[in-house]
Amino acid sequence: MIKAKKKLGQNFLTDRQVARRIIDAVSPEGTDAIIEIGSGTGALTHMLAQRSGHLVAIEIDARLARELGGTAKAENITIVTADALSLNWDELIDDARSKLNAAPGPDEGLGRVRIVANLPYYISTPIIEKLLSLGRRIFDMTLMLQKEVADRIAAEPGGKEYGYLSVMVQYYCVATKLFEVPPSAFTPEPKVNSAVLRLRVREQPAVKVWDERKFFSLVRACFAQRRKTILNNLKAAAASQGFKTDVEVALEAASVAPQRRAETLSLAEFACLFEALCVV
Ligand code: SAM
Repeated sequence: MIKAKKKLGQNFLTDRQVARRIIDAVSPEGTDAIIEIGSGTGALTHMLAQRSGHLVAIEIDARLARELGGTAKAENITIVTADALSLNWDELIDDARSKLNAAPGPDEGLGRVRIVANLPYYISTPIIEKLLSLGRRIFDMTLMLQKEVADRIAAEPGGKEYGYLSVMVQYYCVATKLFEVPPSAFTPEPKVNSAVLRLRVREQPAVKVWDERKFFSLVRACFAQRRKTILNNLKAAAASQGFKTDVEVALEAASVAPQRRAETLSLAEFACLFEALCVV
């Protein structure tokens, strides 16, 4: 057994029932290309390969990639020894789809590219941001995450978990928390609980905004100090954000009461506020 490297987030899934539950949740089809991030000792890899058209396993640790190469007898597995954060994802996706026996079709249906990962927790947020930037090239993602991060991503407005990460991910995806997983399912055991989250990439973003970068910068500013009202956070950000309209006037135009806090605003309300503040 290979010794786990803590700094690479190596908590291997050893509970086969949980592994099976994840595979059932993904429910791969023979026409799907699956990209698994951090294949480790292959707890999910072989089962995924059996049920999909092609599987690409990305693993940063050459020892594990070599070992997986030795046990992966199936012809439909490609192992890529690389850092998932610095890969050329466009090339990787083209390559994965080209290996499907079926001719690549539109993003929906035939030739779907799907992500599955028991993510190393230290890269979960940057890797999700990277995957979201690929838009509809990805059909969906089934991710094991730290429970607290899964809760924040899937949170609805009104609770303390709802924040920038919820708004950013839900703008691109429908997020569903599927089930929780205790530390005892892994070796070595992590210190935190985990949860499996499904992100289904939307056909169109949840709301229409004319500049995504500026929109997300505004959302971040609204959450800058969670205990402050939306009015005070916006006033503090006015100079750096270069608003086109007075903050109080814009709040009224967007029908958002100035005493509310950012954590109570829906995506649609953030979009209205953005329009009112940033469009002349
Ligand atoms: N999928 C396996 C499982 O379920 O048991 C392993 C999961 S373990 C939590 C995370 C895996 O991601 C480890 O094998 C680790 O080496 C790998 N990893 C860590 N950082 C990575 C990165 N930047 N790119 C690709 N793989 C990475």
